[in-house]
Amino acid sequence: MRLREGLNPDVTVVAVTKTRSAGEAMEAYNAGLRIFGENRVQELAAKREQLPGDISWHLIGHLQSNKVKPAVASAAMIESVDTVRLLRLIDAEALTQERNIDCLLQVHIASEESKSGFSLTEMKATNWGEVASSLRAARICGVMGMATFTDDREKVRSEFRTLADIFRQLREGYFSHDSHFREISMGMTGDWQVAVEEGSTMIRVGTLIFGERIKK
Ligand SMILES: *Cc1c(COP(=O)(O)O)cnc(C)c1O
Repeated sequence: MRLREGLNPDVTVVAVTKTRSAGEAMEAYNAGLRIFGENRVQELAAKREQLPGDISWHLIGHLQSNKVKPAVASAAMIESVDTVRLLRLIDAEALTQERNIDCLLQVHIASEESKSGFSLTEMKATNWGEVASSLRAARICGVMGMATFTDDREKVRSEFRTLADIFRQLREGYFSHDSHFREISMGMTGDWQVAVEEGSTMIRVGTLIFGERIKK
């Protein structure tokens, strides 16, 4: 694998446990994994109850505003923040619960309409410095994105490159003095190598660890 010049080869693995049993998740824990990802709040909270307390849980699926409270109570990081309004709700709830919560801005980089996230236009039009300085308990720690589901490697690569470019622009423009702003969460089972080559700091893999999912 050839990393682009100047990239940090330290990549965090998020073990995506959605649809897996607590027993399967525990095997991953015993193998040394400590960061688990779930796309639904309820499933995240339920598994968190059953598994060791030193696991960091990441919410990676779309969060509805009526589930912000349980999400803030159980997740260490919300990777799927897709509106400023949602970010403010998370911040207010985290303040109420007297805890900090790490957030990633999910960016829509794929050509599929079904995937959520800020559009590139919204990312550019938002004054993230102003948004970040108004937060009291939530922290913006970087960006997250999903590439198009396709065999076309170069398309996937160019989408990941777009996300990495956005990350750099945000860091230079608004977060150069904020050491929390450091994550580019991109890459799943089918495309994590390309993602790492393009600067991913965090890959979210389920199938790679646990095998094929039985579709629900
Ligand atoms: C399911 C899921 C993953 C992991 O998918 P795999 O293909 O099993 O690695 C990663 N990110 C998100 C947002 C997911 O929903």
